[in-house]
Amino acid sequence: MTTVGTVYLVGAGPGDPDLMTVRAARLLERADLVVHDGLVDPAVLALARPEAELVSVAKSRVRHTLPQEEINALLVREALDGRDVIRLKGGDPFVFGRGGEEAEACRAGGVPVEIVPGVTSALGAAAAAQIPLTHRDSASIVSFVAGQCKGLADQNWAGLAGPGRTLAIYMGVKTAPMIAEKLIAEGLSPNMPLAVIENAARANMRVLRSALAALPGLVETQRVKSPALIIIGEVTTRDDAALAQFALEAHA
Ligand code: SAH
Repeated sequence: MTTVGTVYLVGAGPGDPDLMTVRAARLLERADLVVHDGLVDPAVLALARPEAELVSVAKSRVRHTLPQEEINALLVREALDGRDVIRLKGGDPFVFGRGGEEAEACRAGGVPVEIVPGVTSALGAAAAAQIPLTHRDSASIVSFVAGQCKGLADQNWAGLAGPGRTLAIYMGVKTAPMIAEKLIAEGLSPNMPLAVIENAARANMRVLRSALAALPGLVETQRVKSPALIIIGEVTTRDDAALAQFALEAHA
């Protein structure tokens, strides 16, 4: 009888391989099969054993992508065939990564699952831009929100951002105008500062800053592209963040 393999749902972090966990790097070094999505940086994939089979299930509108059910079925099938599967996902597997669905599918299929956490991009972007997500003087609440999900426009945005709070928005490039409009309509100051961090923890990172009312214009004129993280709140103007911006420009 074949021994059933294990599916490892592994967080690859925001890009720089140095930001992966030791556990993730060790698993890649002995991997037979790596199933990864489009957000995973090539530098991370380069850590996989040369003999490892790499399968991309890229999530991108232009390229062919595997539907989620097929990804789930692939993981279960390979593990039942006796292979250990490294399911490598950008950031953390359980933050907007559909890792929960993959874990459920594995359990339903009788396959053992292990979750290896990763640096989620809100944390990676904040660190790279030197923005403290919390600060004794500026924020004691942080919210992680998906800018693209069912019923987004009907979401109750009041309370997610404002004085004393930090809002980190994933997948928000396309919906930035709607989000800014909603937040202002619900009473948030149009002057509330924010930062957009594109390609955080990668060689081509950009950190852009503006006030909330100027967000749609910023995204358009700067041609901001996914992946980008939007951080809204007073923490984005702390001195250390402003200094980081200065350092980035000085080295540009
Ligand atoms: N599981 C991932 C999130 C997947 S959703 C995580 O924990 O980070 C995809 C969104 O993540 C992108 O639209 C973008 O908002 C964000 N993202 C992923 N990598 C990023 C990066 N290097 N820089 C900025 N944002 C990133």
